[in-house]
Amino acid sequence: MQSDVRTITILGATGSIGLSTLDVVARHPGRYRVFALSAHRQADALAQLCLRHAPRYAVLGDAAAAGTVRARLAAAGCHTEVLCGEAALAEVAAHPQVDTVMAAIVGAAGLAPAIAAARAGKRILLANKESLVMAGEVFLRACRDGGATVLPIDSEHNAIFQCLPPGQGTGSAAPGVRRILLTASGGPFRRASAAEMARATPEQACAHPNWSMGRKISVDSATMMNKGLELIEASYLFGLPESRLGVIVHPQSIVHSMVEYEDGSTLAQLGNPDMRTPIAHALAHPERIDSGVAPLSLATIGRLEFEEPDMQRFPCLRLAHEALRAGGAAPCALNAANEVAVAAFLDRRLRFTDIACVAEAALQAVGSRAAGVDVDEVLEIDREARSVARRQLSRCAA
Ligand code: NAD
Ligand code: MG
Repeated sequence: MQSDVRTITILGATGSIGLSTLDVVARHPGRYRVFALSAHRQADALAQLCLRHAPRYAVLGDAAAAGTVRARLAAAGCHTEVLCGEAALAEVAAHPQVDTVMAAIVGAAGLAPAIAAARAGKRILLANKESLVMAGEVFLRACRDGGATVLPIDSEHNAIFQCLPPGQGTGSAAPGVRRILLTASGGPFRRASAAEMARATPEQACAHPNWSMGRKISVDSATMMNKGLELIEASYLFGLPESRLGVIVHPQSIVHSMVEYEDGSTLAQLGNPDMRTPIAHALAHPERIDSGVAPLSLATIGRLEFEEPDMQRFPCLRLAHEALRAGGAAPCALNAANEVAVAAFLDRRLRFTDIACVAEAALQAVGSRAAGVDVDEVLEIDREARSVARRQLSRCAA
């Protein structure tokens, strides 16, 4: 049975998705072997995970954090080799002994290692939606050239994947599909007034009613930019234009998304809102394994509600629709400016409602350019959009 053991690199192991992945992996000893774990700067957290899972490599973002982990592991007699920097991330993502890579770094920093995994032909469990939003064409081409498989982790995209015909590859439209409908919880401000949203604090924005997630994606859920980024992600993954992708607000977060077919059938995937379900689905695909998630009790939940999204109060969702229609550099510019704006909001340097203004400024300045044809061009667009966004921040703060 040794050949059935899957060897996994988890990029972003200390994050919300990384920890949920390790939780599922630990439920199936003998089925998965952890090859490498990465974190940006959380030395203590990564050292703990190394002591528990004994990977061959640990990768950190900077030398100081790597030194701390190395000392901790040496003192405990753990043989994990500690590396640091971007090249090491790409190395553990593309290593010949690895077959599965969980891409769960947050933000644009996840692109380069995801591309390395794609070129090396890995099974990529893709949580880092930013890779597709920034560089959809470039990333999918790297997957095709390298022979990589993408399994979506984002709960909506994983749900859609489960509702499509088996064997449907990424990047091309499945026959008979009319439309894809992404569900959105509506976030913590679903019922908030514009005035309340203008005063929103990072604590309020990060208090998601249904999901427990990292801070950046929590803010994106509160602005609904997350759903916007997911529209762009879905367009690349499932080969559909903006006109065939919709969003519907579903406050209970039980229906994770839907595929509408030509014959009038709509298929949906349901489950409790816990990322271990899509993670377990992708880890074991095409088999099914226990994820630790409780079975769904619809009688306890009682009702499932749906409503149209409010584009006035959630301008970020409108901007994402526009960026997807425009194509070219627009999705990359939107993502980069949003990262700058969200970081400033979390730092209390920007009002919640100004996140959309910062994103819009970058879309106007950079969004009409052509898409980057390779990673360097994509990163150049990303840098320019960030510098427009930073200038806009100081205007908003004034
Ligand atoms: P998180 O903030 O909890 O964790 C992020 C991880 O990335 C951490 O391990 C951190 O150390 C690492 N990291 C951060 N900056 C880095 C950098 N510059 N270089 C290298 N590593 C870095 O984030 P999360 O909520 O787990 O989200 C991870 C990704 O998954 C995001 O792209 C997010 O959009 C996506 N996602 C998350 C959820 C969720 O429920 N959390 C759901 C769907 C998609
Ligand atoms: Mg999602």
